[in-house]
Amino acid sequence: REMPGDPRTDTIPRQVLHACYTKVSPSVEVDNPQLVAWSESVAELLDLYPKEFQRPDFPLIFSGASPLVGGLPYAQCYGGHQFGMWAGQLGDGRAITLGELLNSRGERWELQLKGAGKTPYSRFADGLAVLRSSIREFLCSEAMQSLGIPTTRALCLVTTGKFVTRDMFYDGNPKEEPGAIVCRVAQSFLRFGSFQLHASRGKEDLEIVRALVDYTIRRHFPHIENMSKSESLSFKTGEDGDSVVDLTSNKYAAWSVEVAERTASLVASWQGVGFTHGVLNTDNMSVLGLTIDYGPFGFLDAFDPSYTPNTTDLPGRRYCFANQPDIGLWNIAQFTSTLSAAELINDKETNYAMERYGTKFMDEYQSIMTRKLGLPKYNKQLIGKLLNNMAVDKVDYTNFFRLLSSIKADPSTSEDDLLVPLKAVLLDIGKERKEAWISWVQTYIQELAASGVPDEQRKAAMDSVNPKFILRNYLCQSAIDAAEQGDYGEVRRLLKVMERPYDEQPGMEKYARLPPAWAYRPGVCMLSCSS
Ligand code: AMP
Ligand code: MG
Ligand code: MG
Repeated sequence: REMPGDPRTDTIPRQVLHACYTKVSPSVEVDNPQLVAWSESVAELLDLYPKEFQRPDFPLIFSGASPLVGGLPYAQCYGGHQFGMWAGQLGDGRAITLGELLNSRGERWELQLKGAGKTPYSRFADGLAVLRSSIREFLCSEAMQSLGIPTTRALCLVTTGKFVTRDMFYDGNPKEEPGAIVCRVAQSFLRFGSFQLHASRGKEDLEIVRALVDYTIRRHFPHIENMSKSESLSFKTGEDGDSVVDLTSNKYAAWSVEVAERTASLVASWQGVGFTHGVLNTDNMSVLGLTIDYGPFGFLDAFDPSYTPNTTDLPGRRYCFANQPDIGLWNIAQFTSTLSAAELINDKETNYAMERYGTKFMDEYQSIMTRKLGLPKYNKQLIGKLLNNMAVDKVDYTNFFRLLSSIKADPSTSEDDLLVPLKAVLLDIGKERKEAWISWVQTYIQELAASGVPDEQRKAAMDSVNPKFILRNYLCQSAIDAAEQGDYGEVRRLLKVMERPYDEQPGMEKYARLPPAWAYRPGVCMLSCSS
């Protein structure tokens, strides 16, 4: 029987008022759980010896079946805007934090099991996770890190040995799927929604918003906490010059600007590699500016600005690739309005944070695209034309930029030879389109030639920002198909390949090929939220 107040069993779904979390322990049932894969670099972050992964009780601990000694398990309470609508309390419905670990460098890392059983936030759902979605979260967390994009991490992936029922399939029939658990790791899993929820509950809970903000700044933004008047910088906004925002006079304003700017650079880095998150609800927006919650995400294959990997996002495509920058701003607007409701920042400071989001995004995006093309400086027209050409001819986003670095900055290249370096990505294009591409490459070569940077040097620089290997949805799907048959080799190989996305990796060419036709099937390039 579930006993309210007993942290081991108190998982009755409810509104948890005036609190940021609930103590709750993993309750998942296991039957001979197995370790599928683990990340060496996360193990290093946690000072965890490789031999620990061989311990027979490792899968028991990381499925939540055995307690982690010294742990203080809890689930977080948060809310969020889902698809633009306030959804009220959401919370960790299946994620349970085991506790925080202080490593030898003095860094604090939170360890969280995703799919470890019900919590008071599980609402109508089962608190569990299936193998396919856990493989995707595990692999993409580590792939993003290796791409150089801020993200929550994944220590390990274990199967529970039990089956989970999921019924959101295309044929509408429920299916039994293997259960699994990812151990996610981050300095904090606090989200915009962690702050929004309390502000939404009325005046008396604004005190909680303020306490949580103070905690977050103290713990995670110490440079802002320690900001002193002596470093005083003031920033002008607006034409009239009288609306000056002095960030040193209000640490909350400084913090809101930092969250806005981190979010802006995060989104810019997504655009650079063609990552589409798929569910940019405010409960999936980290205040640390990390990519968080890998559900129906997708990397662009053929370039399509309106690509959304999430079937629930149709027909509106709110979370499609090209919309992500605007959605980031919309989410920042919700976040700053929470801080404003708690009287931590005023209207001018609110506007200023949003303005800084825009400026930061444009700066970062332009710089990323300039580096992707190996240009000496940003060229709006050239990049605009390129993206337009790519959309018209559905050119593979990753492979195009990787091949672009082999173009020689030689203006005397004959028209016949201009497209040779790109022929593997410019398939089946008609005569008219060929002309459009020749004209673009000619202009591009002129820009490169004017820069005077040697071809070899530019190629090396471009290859360090244009990945050769990207976690395409169809690659995930192949690993999932094998894993569901009990073969985890492909998950482990994909992890290794995606740990070095910018390296050539001879012998691994098949992971850099253009996607096969089946990659564009719904269910592969697009997924539901069922996970
Ligand atoms: P997401 O769309 O993944 O951000 O999830 C939205 C909310 O649903 C979060 O509060 C999740 O914790 C919760 N949730 C998703 N799947 C489950 C599940 N299987 N059991 C319980 N809660 C879930
Ligand atoms: Mg979420
Ligand atoms: Mg999710």
